[in-house]
Amino acid sequence: MSNEKETPAGVNTRLAHTGNDPRAFFGFVNPPVVHASTVLFPDAETMASRGQKYTYGTRGTPTSDALADAVNALEGAAGTIIVPSGLAAVTVPLLGFLSAGDHVLIVDSVYHPTRHFADTMLTRLGIEVTYYDPMIGAGLSALMQPNTKVVLTEAPGSGTFEMQDIPQIVAAAHKGGAVVMMDNTWATPLYYRPLDHGVDISIQAATKYPAGHSDILLGWVSANEACWERLLDAHGALGMCGAPDDVYQVLRGLRTMGVRLERHQASAFALARWLEDQPGVARVLHPGLESHPGHALWKRDFTGASGLFSIVLDGGGERQAHAFLNALRYFGLGYSWGGYESLAVHVSLGDRKVALAPKEGPVMRLQIGLEDVDDLKADLSLGLAAAAAS
Ligand SMILES: *Cc1c(COP(=O)(O)O)cnc(C)c1O
Repeated sequence: MSNEKETPAGVNTRLAHTGNDPRAFFGFVNPPVVHASTVLFPDAETMASRGQKYTYGTRGTPTSDALADAVNALEGAAGTIIVPSGLAAVTVPLLGFLSAGDHVLIVDSVYHPTRHFADTMLTRLGIEVTYYDPMIGAGLSALMQPNTKVVLTEAPGSGTFEMQDIPQIVAAAHKGGAVVMMDNTWATPLYYRPLDHGVDISIQAATKYPAGHSDILLGWVSANEACWERLLDAHGALGMCGAPDDVYQVLRGLRTMGVRLERHQASAFALARWLEDQPGVARVLHPGLESHPGHALWKRDFTGASGLFSIVLDGGGERQAHAFLNALRYFGLGYSWGGYESLAVHVSLGDRKVALAPKEGPVMRLQIGLEDVDDLKADLSLGLAAAAAS
């Protein structure tokens, strides 16, 4: 069962049973955590030909294979590499597929550290970077250049949750010979499978929902058949492997990811709908809401929504944003998301070039955790009251 790519079973059944074969390790339900650098060969000939499954710790272990197999099944991928963080899951494929003199198109609503990497390291390596409007759709054709080798998408957008017409972007990119990469951290492969929509490389910050408990940094990158070999080469060349205990914890997290996401989704929807009617809220940026400009795309392509969205406060600036945050008791003030606990952050959008910040007021990003909705509601009411009074 462990290595089949498609099974008719439901997603929670697959999450419970993919990723390792208990019979391969004495019947234990979970795989061993293999700490490894050296792997011994039985003789010089096998060593010279590298003629055995495992050759060195950086090149994979039974633990990393267990996670990669599970992810391949979830993503519908030809292969998956495991890297030490979500940011590495963005930088490794970009370094693997771009060369000096190439051009890359990146969505303007991209995760900020991805933009920082592009504007500093990629630019320094002689790669030209252009940011495009998330709503561009087929209009991406006009930005394609003969040297455009990669289009990097992320939907919904970081902080502001713009949707993108991925099939149209894929069509325009492929017509020009570019590889399409998608940072799919928000939906996870449970609610959107990028490779099924024509994307070549699917990126996941496993730090978020797969790990789920705010204690692990890890990333994975999954490729279709055409891109797999080159992605694996980049992984080997860069030596960016995940640590065994973290890999194990993410595989463990996958077992409950389906039920956790259902709860994150339901609570986030309940709060987003409630927030739409609260005084002091100008807009709620959640693609699952009918009021969202990208709602039709979300409904067409996605099978669910996770627990992260933003609200735009009705007026005010930094003082109001800080008053909102300081009044919260359960929402922690901190980066990252996808864990069991709720978090809030004032989104900084000064780096945008085309997808500009909402004009009404500060944007507050909310990660809805697994707490009881009524408690979170009470907390947000305190925040909104404090912002209004400030
Ligand atoms: C958090 C995040 C990352 C980076 O993950 P880390 O493990 O924190 O490095 C990448 N992309 C998106 C969309 C994220 O939210």
